[in-house]
Amino acid sequence: MKIGILSCQETCNVGVMTNKIAYAFVNNDTINSVRSLGLPLGIQSMIAVAKANEKFIALNGCEIRCG
Ligand code: SF4
Repeated sequence: MKIGILSCQETCNVGVMTNKIAYAFVNNDTINSVRSLGLPLGIQSMIAVAKANEKFIALNGCEIRCG
């Protein structure tokens, strides 16, 4: 099973830490990084990467939940 991690995207200092933690788990095989800000912007390459996954984990650094 392929799992995509959507972490918040470094828009604040806590987001930087959250993104670094997310990347500690990414192996670009079964666990992949999904650039969550690219999805609402309609960036096709990022959407294609996201669609390659079957399940997703959103990882947020605070209650604003950018991811
Ligand atoms: S979810 Fe919170 S910690 Fe993460 S980027 Fe957004 S504001 Fe920053």
